[in-house]
Formats: sequence, structure tokens, C-alpha cells
Amino acid sequence: KPMEGRITDIGPHKYDEYFPPIIKNNFGKWLYHEILEPGELLHVAESGDKCYTVRVGGTRTMSITLIRELCDIADKYCGGYLRWTTRNNIEFMVDSENGMKALRDDLNSRKFDGGSFKFPVGGTGAGISNMVHTQGWVHCHTPATDASGPVKAVMDVVFEDFKSMRLPAPVRIALACCINMCGAVHCSDIGLVGIHRKPPMIDHEWTDQLCEIPLAVAACPTAAVRPTKVELDGKKVNSIAIKNERCMYCGNCYTMCPALPISDGEGDGIAIMVGGKVSNRISMPKFSKVVVGYIPNEPPRWPSLTKTVKHIVEVYAANANKYERLGDWAERIGWETFFKMTGLEFTHHLIDDFRDPAYYTWRQSTQFKF
Ligand code: SF4
Ligand code: SF4
Repeated sequence: KPMEGRITDIGPHKYDEYFPPIIKNNFGKWLYHEILEPGELLHVAESGDKCYTVRVGGTRTMSITLIRELCDIADKYCGGYLRWTTRNNIEFMVDSENGMKALRDDLNSRKFDGGSFKFPVGGTGAGISNMVHTQGWVHCHTPATDASGPVKAVMDVVFEDFKSMRLPAPVRIALACCINMCGAVHCSDIGLVGIHRKPPMIDHEWTDQLCEIPLAVAACPTAAVRPTKVELDGKKVNSIAIKNERCMYCGNCYTMCPALPISDGEGDGIAIMVGGKVSNRISMPKFSKVVVGYIPNEPPRWPSLTKTVKHIVEVYAANANKYERLGDWAERIGWETFFKMTGLEFTHHLIDDFRDPAYYTWRQSTQFKF
């Protein structure tokens, strides 16, 4: 129905148009919530109303067939309402426990031909929820790794922790396919970041035709790019020169100038960061720190990456105290001990040198070696 004051159909409608009745009736008046079982939430309102939610894992890119099936399930059990979370989970809400159980059993029974879950129930509490991630090789221009591929491979090895809550605290994993990090990797318990390791290649033939050269110069955070003239077919043309030793392989110049491609099969790969969180429970929110500088891209199943992530999760699960997030645990035992316990190699590339007062510790110094 048309909304008051709307003059176009651009953008989403106002969110509360899509509230299920139980949410609309109790908006802002919830008393508490609890997690009944993995993937099952109960919210209790001041009015006494109870809202039961079943959460299932989804994917960021879905077929229309799958979305139709989700809508059919919502029609059958939830009056046509459902919601997507920021982690690409799908939540179905009902107002009775029996309705929730029937819905959960139905979701669990739906399988693909190969026998894998279509709509796995889970992703809550002290487990591993779905991964936030970025676009990857197909959909963006600066990726150093794929998104959907490594995300699928990682979620497959930690799938049991999606369906259970055996960990000391929630573990939130995210992946960004370049250091622009449009996937919120910097505050994740485990952040996977695509990194380039070589400077951009310069396509002198095209720089003058495809680029605003001053923009490419201005885009470089380390002042490694400067305008120059090069000789091409006996003529002097405007182009770009890059001081390689200054380049930090961020790809910003390529964003401005398509004649500076940076992707490289040998140079590109993934770094692993750990210990970040956005929650202020027990300790303040914190950034993740790099603990593995480089893992090569190994499509289609990224075995080195998945093995390392699984290993970090298992060492954390076996040693952290209850309620302790991965970063809290690493800080309590000390990052030196974290490296010893996980067996991850410590190199000088991993020295924490943020120039922020919060990080003024001796770890900034080059003495942080063992
Ligand atoms: Fe593009 Fe980088 Fe975002 Fe990946 S993380 S989608 S490469 S901007
Ligand atoms: Fe500068 Fe980044 Fe381009 Fe390197 S990749 S030249 S640091 S903008």
C-alpha cells in the first residue's frame, strides 16, 4: 500500500510495515529473551506475549527457488512473515511453543538431493553463527580472494558449531576479500582478509585513456603514485609511476584507475586476524589482530585456510574460560602464550603497531620477539 509522504519507489519501505503482529504489538516492550536450544529463541514481552524464533543458516546469494521455498514455509507457519539477519541467517517467528517445534522439525527435515541440510537450524549463542562476508572474485574489482568460496569451505568445517553451543562464548567469523574490509572483519573473533602482496601493474597503453591521473595519485595513502610521461610507439603519453617500496598493496589506486590492475595469482591470498569483538560484555570492544600473515588461495576448498581456522577454534574451545571471547582469552593468557598454544608462527609482520593511545604498550616495540 502507498505510504504517506513517499514520492518514489526507490529504497526499502519503512521497516515496521513488515513486523509480524506479535512484534508490532510488543514493540519496545520486551522483558527478556533466552536461547532454548541452538537456533531456538524465546522473547517474553511485558504483556506476557511470547515470541518463539527459529533461526536457520542461509547464504548471501540465493536462488529464487530457495527464496520461494522460504516464503512458502513462512506462509505455512508464520502468517507470511520472516526476516533476514545481517549474517544471512533467516528467522521465522511464531507465537506458540508447539508451533515452533513443528516449524523446527519441518526445517530440519528439508534436505538437498545429496542429503545436506537446506535450512540448518542453529547459529545462536556460544557457537559459530553464519559468516558476514563481502562480494569476492565475481562481484568486486579489488578482491585478493573469493568470498563465497572460502566462506562455504570454512562453514563446512565448523558446521557442528553452527548447530551446537559447546564453545565458551560466541565466535563470530567474517571475511573481507580485500583490505577495504567492507565485511567488518576488523572486529571479529576470527577475521579472514584477502591481501595483495604485489604492487599494481601499470598498463601504460590505457592509463591516459581510462584514468583521471590526479585522482589515482590522490587515492594513494602512501604517496607511492606520481604522474609521469612514458614513451609509447614513439610518442610521449601521460601515465603513472609507482614507487614499489612505498606500496602497501591496498588497491586504492586501482579503484580510481582501471589501468592499474593489482590482482595476481601468486601474490594474492588471505591473512587471519583474531580477537576482535563489537560487544562490550565483560570487556570493551576491540580490534582483531593479525595472527597469520598469509595463506595462499586454494580454490575450490581452501584446505590450508579451513584447517587453520578449525585449529584456532579447537584450541580456544579447549582452553578458554566460560563466557570468555577469543580475544579476552588471548589477552588473559598473553598473546605470546596464544602463539605458543596454537603453534602459529610468530613473525615481525605481526607486531601490533597501531598508533592509538589505547595500544601504547611495549608490544609496539620491535623488541616484541621471542
Ligand atoms: Fe570489494 Fe574489497 Fe569489499 Fe571485497 S572487501 S567486496 S574486494 S571492496
Ligand atoms: Fe598506493 Fe595502494 Fe596503489 Fe600501492 S596499491 S600504489 S599503496 S594506492
